[in-house]
Amino acid sequence: MKPCSFEYVKAESLEHALAVLVEHGDEAKILAGGQSLVPAMNFRLAQPAVLVDLNGVGALSGIERVDGMVQVGAMTRQRSAERSSVLSAHVPLVTETMPFIAHAQIRNRGTFGGSIAHADPSAELPAISVALSATLQVTSSRGSRSIAASDFYVDLLTTALEADEILVRVDLPIAVPGSGFAFAEVSRRHGDYALVGVAASVQCDASGVCQQARVSLLSVGPGPVLSTSCAAALIGERPTTRTIADAAAATASDDIDPEGDIHASARFRRHLARVLVERTLTRAFARAAVSAGAAEQA
Ligand SMILES: Cc1cc2nc3c(=O)[nH]c(=O)nc-3n(C[C@H](O)[C@H](O)[C@H](O)COP(=O)(O)OP(=O)(O)OC[C@H]3O[C@@H](n4cnc5c(N)ncnc54)[C@H](O)[C@@H]3O)c2cc1C
Repeated sequence: MKPCSFEYVKAESLEHALAVLVEHGDEAKILAGGQSLVPAMNFRLAQPAVLVDLNGVGALSGIERVDGMVQVGAMTRQRSAERSSVLSAHVPLVTETMPFIAHAQIRNRGTFGGSIAHADPSAELPAISVALSATLQVTSSRGSRSIAASDFYVDLLTTALEADEILVRVDLPIAVPGSGFAFAEVSRRHGDYALVGVAASVQCDASGVCQQARVSLLSVGPGPVLSTSCAAALIGERPTTRTIADAAAATASDDIDPEGDIHASARFRRHLARVLVERTLTRAFARAAVSAGAAEQA
């Protein structure tokens, strides 16, 4: 398949890209890594009249530690995030998750911000952005604003971004002592989109009582699903095998509404969700205990 004809604009700067968006409204689309948009155009699922290519806007790439955040430019390649020593030191959930996204060749081209803006319900980065309470920085010719990741994903492939806005940066909070993270997914083959995936981010105080439990699931709804059952069951409690198992069972029965398809039935997806929530929470709490112990010794 070939795409419909379209006009191509290579943006020379962020301001140039924003001006083109103002001129063409929702007839225009941003081109980042092209790993989702170009196939969609080839299948004629997307038919933008104008493509605004951000690949020449160097200011949108890079990974930097600033105060309590790691700031990831929207055009940072997924592979660069995977290999970043700043992210592995301060936001280890990203490093653990990146290899699950497609294949290395796709991650070489696909961008961190492109995956988040695309908002595929089976994508890993939207789910971990919610688990980590990321803040998404967006800008337009009208000004800039920050959107909490949990408010960003509105519906299937739909975000809070307006047609004239560009996602410029993703701010990820640095892991604090006593915090622990884990990611797991099941897919038919490595590199396929996940049948179900789970990202867990927890934090315990010095006595081992859970202060935060953010568990975000992918492929079980129209976007990433944040488990309210895990927060309700675990915060204020000392995590045990029993409390974790109960939280996982409640998540699978109450928080998600998966659909069945040719790859997995809804029932199987619920089963996977329960098992993966239990596994990721167990790993995340074990890491939180190690992190708290290390902080105490320091
Ligand atoms: C074979 C294959 C397998 C894949 N498997 C997986 C997988 O397992 N998990 C996974 O998560 N992904 C997977 N992907 C998708 C891949 O991760 C993409 O790179 C990613 O979804 C989109 O990033 P991109 O930079 O390529 O964006 P593009 O394809 O260029 O853009 C995607 C959409 O986001 C918009 N957009 C992009 N950047 C911005 C921005 N800064 N501001 C506003 N809007 C923007 C575009 O206009 C477009 O609508 C797969 C892709 C392929 C081809």
